[in-house]
Amino acid sequence: MELEAQASDRMDTEECTPTPLQRELPIIRRLDEAVVNRIAAGEVIQRPVSAVKELVENSIDAGSTSITVVVKDGGLKLIQVSDDGHGIRYEDLPILCERHTTSKLSKYEDLQSIKSMGFRGEALASMTYVGHVTVTTITKDQLHGYRATYKDGVMGCEPKACAAVKGTQIMIENLFYNMAARKKTLQNSADDYSKIVDLICRFAIHHTSVSFSCRKHGAARADVQSVSKSSRLDAIRSVYGVSVAQNLLKIEVSDDPSSSSFKMDGFISNSNYIAKKIAMVLFINDRLVECGALKRAIEIVYAATLPKASKPFIYMSIKLPPEHVDVNVHPTKREVTLLNQEIIIEKIQSAMESKLRNSNESRTFREQKVDPLDNSVSTSKAASTPPSSFGTKPQKVPVHKMVRTDSQDPAGRLDAYMQSTQSSQMQRNSCLASMRSSIKERRNSRETADLTSIQELVREIDSSCHTELLDLVGHCTYLGMADDVFALLQHNTHLYLANVVNLSKELMYQQVLRRFAHFSAIQLSVPAPLWELIMLALKEDELEPEGGEQENLREKIAEMNTKVIKQKTEMLEEYFGIHIDQDGNLSRLPIVLDQYTPDMDRVPELLLCLGNDVNWDDEKACFQTIAGAIANFYAFHPPLLPNPSGESLQFYKRASSGDPEEGSTSHSADDIPEEQLEQDLFSEAERAWSQREWSIQHVLFPSMRLFLKPPTSMATDGTFVKVASLEKLYKIFERC
Ligand code: ADP
Ligand code: MG
Repeated sequence: MELEAQASDRMDTEECTPTPLQRELPIIRRLDEAVVNRIAAGEVIQRPVSAVKELVENSIDAGSTSITVVVKDGGLKLIQVSDDGHGIRYEDLPILCERHTTSKLSKYEDLQSIKSMGFRGEALASMTYVGHVTVTTITKDQLHGYRATYKDGVMGCEPKACAAVKGTQIMIENLFYNMAARKKTLQNSADDYSKIVDLICRFAIHHTSVSFSCRKHGAARADVQSVSKSSRLDAIRSVYGVSVAQNLLKIEVSDDPSSSSFKMDGFISNSNYIAKKIAMVLFINDRLVECGALKRAIEIVYAATLPKASKPFIYMSIKLPPEHVDVNVHPTKREVTLLNQEIIIEKIQSAMESKLRNSNESRTFREQKVDPLDNSVSTSKAASTPPSSFGTKPQKVPVHKMVRTDSQDPAGRLDAYMQSTQSSQMQRNSCLASMRSSIKERRNSRETADLTSIQELVREIDSSCHTELLDLVGHCTYLGMADDVFALLQHNTHLYLANVVNLSKELMYQQVLRRFAHFSAIQLSVPAPLWELIMLALKEDELEPEGGEQENLREKIAEMNTKVIKQKTEMLEEYFGIHIDQDGNLSRLPIVLDQYTPDMDRVPELLLCLGNDVNWDDEKACFQTIAGAIANFYAFHPPLLPNPSGESLQFYKRASSGDPEEGSTSHSADDIPEEQLEQDLFSEAERAWSQREWSIQHVLFPSMRLFLKPPTSMATDGTFVKVASLEKLYKIFERC
């Protein structure tokens, strides 16, 4: 105050008349210590629940096995925490509530290996600056306890002897009595008690050796009551209820077992658990903390694998060497910083993904029923409508382009089949038999995923992964489809066009290899005969009319392809989840990406490709080409029906009179009224296109973020096109 007076005196003198700027200069003063302490206290004790957390943590640090919390008026009137811990020494009571007095830390370096929850010696002190604190405590072997009261860090008077039960009871009354604004906002919010209950629930499921109870003052029943020494699952059941406990999967992850530097164990909800909000209980080195990055990563895993159950319940306990965790980054220690956080999160993500996927596999009702032949028939009807007569060509991709690995030489491959007949067929058979037996041998002795060729293929994916593209895919925002093939993405300040067909094909290929021999099934409602499916594929490829020599040729090709595939049913089923029954009917397909059913119109092409393009002579090439064929089938191609919202709308307009090709119609296509659309076809196309767009946004991109390792080739093959730099655009706008 003195300083301020001097300063203003000086400013009023004539000889140094201040400029207007000087007059506004702020004066720096030393704050009163009481003000400093109250400000600091307001930061540590932000609301009643923060006081409860500090008190309960102190009780846990004191080795308690029973902790009772009583709350009045959401904590504003009274918070009372009683424990049966080691108590506080009489000699320490005078300084107990001074700032920076603690029994848990003596030098800064201890922070590196600290195991207790408290270490700053700030919590009790803070409470005395914003409330009235009474401590009752008794230590071992004492006949009576002591009670002391505290205000602004100072003990009121000598501690009074009193009767006490084992441990410590700390009572905070009239919290925020001296912070009118905060008290007012808190009085208006009804949810403080529920926040306290939620906090105690979290502690109760982690610290299972402690019994917790929490109730409102005067209430006969506790709102949380846990039993000490129960199993984790029992604790979850008693605290969160049966509906949560019965839908949990146990999960464990650790570094390589020898180093034991990172361990996680927990429980995560399965696909039956449906909630409105994610519930995440996270303990790192036994500290209840939050980790936004981990939470987001978990949400992504659920969105990609179980979108219908995408608000999970998660309990997770992570153990790390203390020196890998910085606990001192947040005023209430709510957040921590981890060394190697990204690696840890990635490990947790992939463990969760495989856990959720496996749990899905064991559920029989997961199978989806579809009828590919029905669909194919309807599509072939659609495709056979001569599009040229309406002036617009449908964007149907010719079969040879979709199914053959060598699209440059489609006819050559077919000719080879025709001429090879018996001898090459026999050769193939013997090759196949020897390969199958070699696979079988290894399969029986070891895990299927141990096949070296599969491991090699997976390793190739890892080694050719392009780091920058990985970052782009992992951190981009999907903005929408720019056209039928390219999606618009934003990454940092750049906009990109990304080819979803290429990207999805690569993702599916990688997924097939990762899921090798572990596929869930898509069950076809009506098994479809191979021969007919392949015939369909061949017909779609040809422009010549049916019948005659061409038809004969087609039938022969279909027959041979059917034969080749039939000979490989065992392997196709075991490793790739493609089931062909004894009568040569396709009955099951693999699920390559959860929650996504491929376009069944493309089943005929998949089979033609399996019969035609797979290299059966070499194990690795064989797996690679089969994975490629399945990936192509699963990729997000534009639907076979033209996009009804674009220029292709013309395709769905019905000719009202005469042959439109002769130009004898009385109006142009644009004049045709709405009702003259081929309605069924139009709605089918609309459905197919909007479903694809939904899946691209909600299934493809979340899954790519998680699982895709973009190969280096994608950096140059036009899969990604940088279209704009937002920074430059802003600059241009600024200039305008
Ligand atoms: P910190 O926990 O960071 O040490 P606090 O202000 O929370 O600081 O507590 C100060 C000290 O009071 C602790 O170090 C501990 O020795 C003692 N203490 C607080 N609560 C309890 C309790 N419930 N039982 C035993 N000792 C306690
Ligand atoms: Mg403490």
